[in-house]
Amino acid sequence: MRQYADTYQHKGLRKQLVEILKGRGITSQEVLDAINNIPRHFFLDSAFDKIAYEDRAFPIGEGQTISQPYTVAFQTQLLEVKRNDKVLEIGTGSIYQTTVLAEMGAKVFTIERQKKLYDQHKNYYFKSKYLNIKFFYGDGFEGLPTYAPFDKVLITAAAPFIPPKLIAQLKPGGMMVLPVDEGDQQRMLRITKLPDGNLLEESFHNFSFVPMLTGKN
Ligand code: SAH
Repeated sequence: MRQYADTYQHKGLRKQLVEILKGRGITSQEVLDAINNIPRHFFLDSAFDKIAYEDRAFPIGEGQTISQPYTVAFQTQLLEVKRNDKVLEIGTGSIYQTTVLAEMGAKVFTIERQKKLYDQHKNYYFKSKYLNIKFFYGDGFEGLPTYAPFDKVLITAAAPFIPPKLIAQLKPGGMMVLPVDEGDQQRMLRITKLPDGNLLEESFHNFSFVPMLTGKN
């Protein structure tokens, strides 16, 4: 049975991580607070306990990774998450990014296409703390038409293009943040659906993600 302990050492390392993120340009206090409050080492194999607060991605099984803290912070900041926002997340993975959104008070709908990773939510440590998360097994390209429209959409895998069904499921005034393929890396984009339905596209720097794939596995 896995033991979960959030020690003073972990908390200290987390504070250092927050300082690193500030140094890299993360200014949203809500995002920094969420990262400071969530024990990232709970989302990793215990073998990573001592290095969980390095600003790095780590393997989570099934060839997937938990995103780098800077990437989580950058995407979350761009998404301008407000309490009670309805957020659709594509790529549950380790549930870490999901937890950041939930800690910020969003109502999170998260989709994972890998059954083994999806099934991990049954043992989610914070199951009874964050009742504002709903887990789905499916293909994120399809979104969740039953629960649409959403205030925000966050894609945490490398999208080959901007998924049209996800744009359709965005509220007018809503925003989608996603990494879109550009050579070997991905360009971070923020798409705002303006009240008249037109799209505003903003482009940021490049990141590196695992691919967004179609279908289920
Ligand atoms: N947010 C996660 C990132 C995991 S990596 C975390 O912080 O841990 C990206 C995840 O997206 C992987 O788990 C991968 O299986 C999933 N994924 C890729 N394509 C997908 C799709 N079409 N629909 C849903 N999930 C997808």
